[in-house]
Amino acid sequence: MWKVQLFKLNYDHRESEAVKDIVDSGWITMGEKTKEFEDKFADMLGGDIYATAVSSATASLHMALLALDIKSGDEVIIPALTFVADINVVRMVGATPILADCSNYNNWNITAQTIEEQITDKTKALILVHFAGYPCEMDEIVELCNRQNIALIEDCAHAPDAKYKGQACGTFGDYGCFSFFTNKNLSVGEGGMLTTKSEKLDQQAKYFRSHGMTALTLDRHKGRAITYDIAQSGLNYRIDEMRSSLGLVQLDKLDDANRSRKLLVERYIANLSEVKEFSIPFRDLTNIESVYHIFPILLNHGIDRVALIGRLKEMGIQSSIHYPAFKDFRAFREIGLNSAPIAEDIATRELTLPLYPTMTFDEVDLVCESLKKSLDNLQNSLESETLVPNITRLKPSVHSLAKKILGGK
Ligand SMILES: *Cc1c(COP(=O)(O)O)cnc(C)c1O
Repeated sequence: MWKVQLFKLNYDHRESEAVKDIVDSGWITMGEKTKEFEDKFADMLGGDIYATAVSSATASLHMALLALDIKSGDEVIIPALTFVADINVVRMVGATPILADCSNYNNWNITAQTIEEQITDKTKALILVHFAGYPCEMDEIVELCNRQNIALIEDCAHAPDAKYKGQACGTFGDYGCFSFFTNKNLSVGEGGMLTTKSEKLDQQAKYFRSHGMTALTLDRHKGRAITYDIAQSGLNYRIDEMRSSLGLVQLDKLDDANRSRKLLVERYIANLSEVKEFSIPFRDLTNIESVYHIFPILLNHGIDRVALIGRLKEMGIQSSIHYPAFKDFRAFREIGLNSAPIAEDIATRELTLPLYPTMTFDEVDLVCESLKKSLDNLQNSLESETLVPNITRLKPSVHSLAKKILGGK
């Protein structure tokens, strides 16, 4: 149906073989592959980092809030423009989400300034997002969190191996939370990683992941442990060996995959920077290395986004929206969210174009041509709509003329 999909998996025989090897090995639940995945992921981030592989980024965010003892009566600042997981986890621990606005119409990330505007004496934690793979300005944010004694959680769902001043996202705060959902830069279907520099917070993560147990099933299987104790209450947010083995293959491919994303985005920008009907955000930012998770554009006011998505669909191009504003979801209408004018405006005008590492330049060109044609089409139909009053004015006279000729009623 689609000529160009929004996203395609970067999978080949290596992923199939990795999963087959696990199935054939007879050990499918969290074990040595998971440990290897965690170690290699931590190596990629550099420095002394602990990593805990889990079932999703949402699980990792939930665990981070639990470990940092965020609870009812606490406020947690989150970006106004992000995926719903960030607001959901805050509410699921009983805390109050407070929205920080985007920096501006070019840099959609939250900044120390937009965060500071929302700080009260109840603020206990900040969850930030490196939107579309572009790192936030971390120096000021880390300084602010230290000064105000606010826990820092980086939602790195868009940003595996993205760097700010050479330092990997996910290593700045108390916790980094990564997603390996299908359409992320590193795909295993469902999965995530919780990273921290603190040995204590790592121990908390390991307890929350697996019922607070002091020994893993694998340790008992290997005869390294006979029984276990429960150190504290926990959950089951484990990943399994099939997905960890997919993660290892995908981790091997990540560097090349992120590099091809960069080239594809450069192609998009070369094709589209002259177009007047929209702007392209995250241009000319310094200090950062993006991993180009998605390619968002910002339509001018007055362009009918729904109609445009429809035209693109007719031409076989899939597009999407990142993200609708929280206040437009039924669950959050009544909870008294503060407003964030830039984010709310962007939410009504953002359009995401296809981007994935195996995409070709020809496919980028086809998306760009289709987009330009669709915008022209919309423009023309707008103009013909403004002609409609003249046509309708003509209509009655034609009609009455016909009546006269034909003698109808
Ligand atoms: C995808 C995503 C999540 C959730 O990740 P899951 O692994 O699906 O739970 C959280 N935050 C952001 C910004 C995301 O894009």
